[in-house]
Amino acid sequence: MLLRGDRIEAVGEVPVDAGFAVDCAGKVVAPGFIDAHSHMDFFSASGDSGHFDSFTAQGVTTFVAGNCGFSPFGFAPGTKHRALLESSLFKAGRKTLDWNSFAEYTAVLDDLGLTHNFVHLVGHGAARTSLSGFEARPLGDAEYREMLEVLDRAMHEGAAGVSLGLQYKPGIFAKLEELDDVARLVKRHDKLLTVHAKAYSSFSGTYPMIPFGRAHNLKAIDDMLGVGRRTGVRLQFSHLIFVGSRTWKTVDEAIALFDRAIADGVDVCFDMFPYGCGATLLNTLLPEWFMAGMPEALHSPLAKARLRLEAEVGFRLVGFGYPQIQITNASCSKYDQYNGCFLPEISERVGMSHFDTMLDILDESNAEARVLFHDYYNDEIIERLMRHPAAIFASDSWPEPGGHQNPAAYGTFPKFLRTSRERKNIALEEAVYKMTGAAAKRFRLSERGEVREGYAADVTVFDWEGVRDQENEAGNASPVGIEHVFVNGKQIFDRGRISHVRGAGEVLRS
Ligand SMILES: [Zn+2]
Repeated sequence: MLLRGDRIEAVGEVPVDAGFAVDCAGKVVAPGFIDAHSHMDFFSASGDSGHFDSFTAQGVTTFVAGNCGFSPFGFAPGTKHRALLESSLFKAGRKTLDWNSFAEYTAVLDDLGLTHNFVHLVGHGAARTSLSGFEARPLGDAEYREMLEVLDRAMHEGAAGVSLGLQYKPGIFAKLEELDDVARLVKRHDKLLTVHAKAYSSFSGTYPMIPFGRAHNLKAIDDMLGVGRRTGVRLQFSHLIFVGSRTWKTVDEAIALFDRAIADGVDVCFDMFPYGCGATLLNTLLPEWFMAGMPEALHSPLAKARLRLEAEVGFRLVGFGYPQIQITNASCSKYDQYNGCFLPEISERVGMSHFDTMLDILDESNAEARVLFHDYYNDEIIERLMRHPAAIFASDSWPEPGGHQNPAAYGTFPKFLRTSRERKNIALEEAVYKMTGAAAKRFRLSERGEVREGYAADVTVFDWEGVRDQENEAGNASPVGIEHVFVNGKQIFDRGRISHVRGAGEVLRS
């Protein structure tokens, strides 16, 4: 294969007469990996290329960012809520979001020079926050129109679609009619609507509890497939996880729902990661009413008694509880020594009940403590979902600002390859396709995602027999078997050596 400038000039045997040669004998020469569900946009404007090292080492050349309703742009001009927008889960990246449009934001990126390619979705949550903050109410008529205008403008300027974050404030307050209107707007642009659904567990505080009613995660899938059926929008269901072991019995039906919708002509895919855990904040466990009463609620015997009862019932229904909570960054001096430990172990060491330990960590950290929740999947579910034709591979991860790391930020793509090699659930070609061509097709990235003459020279070379993730205590073990990575013809990885080549990557507008 011959790369010239930022393109693949020829595929197959080529004479080497100029430039330099890389020996790929016995290796797989693949398109550069595309992380189809990422939040790295919040890090790309920070000016610190080091944030991207763990992804470079996995062979990633392109990120699809702006997911789950969060994007670092897509705000109403003159918003009063900039502080809320800047204090997201990803605030370890860029601290201030001081621009007013997608065009202004990408101009900052172009000036800084990216090391990887970026595809940007505009967050419905961001647009809505910029208008009504986190207020639990429907938008007024003028706000509603402005929200749609903000999303419309970002798509005109090149955003690849809109993302919804229906488990987070303020997306959680949006009614189905609002989602339909957003979907119709995306459909008019012929772009993609991605959705972090309202529930991923069989029981969730985001839906009313009806005894023997439909599992909440299935109801959330019903809701979104309904939006797809009514509006004809192209739909991407984000990180199809099944939180808690009691939710796992819904896997068959969830898959059947997608299959039926696809058979009926709904254009829907989902993304997934290969780990049974995911990163978030500890406070996401708290119900709305308790959050609203923080921090006083942490010391109110009445509020605590109610919370304890609700937690016990909720945990039991979902099959999730304290043993599935791993503190990755306690974000306070009292508990930082326990970063990486699971809650029951910490509770034993400090001599308090599980419940009181959890509340104390929330209190000490100002509700900033970061966690990995476990039992999102088991291996069997991961292997099964990987085989599904609508599955696209993604990491849904970012580097944590200190503390224990999310292993997905280090090993996602090597782990997918390793699983397909060892478990033989899918062929090598299919695994590579789901992390390259399938994502390029889904997000309409022109001339990317394949090794083909004339296509962009995003290339990852790996050793099929040896490629694998690794594990360590801190969650930040580098994978092995990734050999070379090129972004638009520029080499950013050479057998373990990372080069921060600013300007190698581009913002891919559509
Ligand atoms: Zn999400």
